[in-house]
Amino acid sequence: MTVQAGIGMTSMRTRMRMIERLQKEGIQDPQVLAAMEAVPRHVFLEDAFQIRAYDETPLPIGHGQTISSPYTVARTCELACAGRPLERVLEIGGGCGYQAAVLARLAPKVVSLERIAGLVGKARATLRALRINNVLIKNADGTLGYPAGAPYDAIVVAAAMPFIPEPLKAQLKPGGRLVAPVGLGASQRLILVVARSTGYVERDMEAVKFVPLLPGVG
Ligand code: SAH
Repeated sequence: MTVQAGIGMTSMRTRMRMIERLQKEGIQDPQVLAAMEAVPRHVFLEDAFQIRAYDETPLPIGHGQTISSPYTVARTCELACAGRPLERVLEIGGGCGYQAAVLARLAPKVVSLERIAGLVGKARATLRALRINNVLIKNADGTLGYPAGAPYDAIVVAAAMPFIPEPLKAQLKPGGRLVAPVGLGASQRLILVVARSTGYVERDMEAVKFVPLLPGVG
């Protein structure tokens, strides 16, 4: 893996085209767009996939897992962050570390949980190479979140859950927002949970397709 500005398909122009496409697809949050403009997505991928890094597609990152498509990353960041000033953000399903790197430009402190040790090692190395040092990546089953770092302003779940566990919602600050794909197979929905003083308000946002959340640490 090489960390460099890149030419051709991995150039700044290619990244700008991705940003323009995201805007056309409805992403509006200027901070999310700026973060995705700043983070070199191709650096998180093996050489063979770098040429497609800015296409609207998930791509393999090893261990049977995928990096989420640009729209998916942008949409989940936008919904969870909602243009607010953030202190602490939790990501469940860190994968290659790309979304954590985007979140690291939106919040001063990011915790990212990933169950596959091999991905944790790679993600840490990539973030270190990019000099991103406000992300704590833990090799852990994130099903029930990370209470030691709670409460969070935003929680982003990057793997599909059968339902959203109560202990996860309990790690939100008042006014905090959680975004998670819920459901199995082809019938997943992106659910937004907002912690209000009167309780948790849930909204069904759109159809999505994520890899499943799996138990345990690999
Ligand atoms: N946000 C990631 C997307 C990775 S795909 C990125 O930008 O690359 C989802 C990830 O969730 C996979 O890496 C998978 O290993 C991880 N995952 C699945 N179940 C998990 C669990 N219970 N706890 C933590 N991570 C989990």
